[in-house]
Amino acid sequence: MSPRPDLGPKPRLGYTQSRIERAAELRPDAAAMAQLMAQPAASAYVIGGDWIVTKKGAPLNDPLFTMDEARALGATGETVFLGLLGGVARFGFGLAPTAAETLKSNDDYLVTDLRSIAVQGLVDAEHLPLIAEAKAVLHWHLRHRFCSNCGAPTQVTQAGWKRDCASCKAEHFPRTDPVAIMLAIARDQCLLGRSPRFLPTMWSCLAGFIEPGEAIEDAVRRETREEAGITCGRVVYFQSQPWPFPSSLMIGCHAEALTREIVVDRAELEDARWFSKAEVESMLLRRHLQGLTTPPPVAIAHHLIRAWVEDEIRFD
Ligand SMILES: [Zn+2]
Repeated sequence: MSPRPDLGPKPRLGYTQSRIERAAELRPDAAAMAQLMAQPAASAYVIGGDWIVTKKGAPLNDPLFTMDEARALGATGETVFLGLLGGVARFGFGLAPTAAETLKSNDDYLVTDLRSIAVQGLVDAEHLPLIAEAKAVLHWHLRHRFCSNCGAPTQVTQAGWKRDCASCKAEHFPRTDPVAIMLAIARDQCLLGRSPRFLPTMWSCLAGFIEPGEAIEDAVRRETREEAGITCGRVVYFQSQPWPFPSSLMIGCHAEALTREIVVDRAELEDARWFSKAEVESMLLRRHLQGLTTPPPVAIAHHLIRAWVEDEIRFD
């Protein structure tokens, strides 16, 4: 067996390790919320649909605005209380997507999507889980203005964490959609696939939404069988990651492949094939002879693949 490769220090997984204290008990308290919003140090992320507004800076941009600055940008959408950092409140301010696009022509701001911010490291990584929290809840508000039970308009309550229907009394809460993302392993090889949406050189883990009534392990086996024709046995949970595009939770697993013959579902994947550990190592190190790559460290796929290359996961 070859020695364990040295891939350097483990990078931080994007959108995780939030330091915020969500302080959910304060959400129904309107007086407390007004006080928190009036704190001089209170701050907000300003988000218009998929667009995140940041103040241009060097080397990093600043995604935080004072309450007055956020209001001055035209933040007229919903506001969500994200929680407390050292006793100081942080909020997410919703902006109309068209208003965010208008700000693109203002030289003081960089208005861009969260993927670019995360992959290019445009803000301090500490902000990523908080922007993810704000973006996911604000997106939910944009799509849930009306009651799914009776069709009447709903009202925001609980500092942005609930919508109530006055007509039928139904209560609506923000949703998170679970997605299984998995690396199937057959001894010294792993299964990677390519979506037609990927950069031409990138290969990654297979993934798919977990369906109602389905266990995580069963979703891992089903997706691997459907997309690549591979039957899996044991499934081991690895790590999870909020994925606010718009509001998923990626649940990362390793799976033991019991078969080898790949049958690619061309409706889902452009291609899928087995990769040796040495080849994947060269992809992680960006030294692959044909320039093939894994996803960047911001994505959980990178960490699933790396853990296998570093021998943290074995089924034999
Ligand atoms: Zn209703």
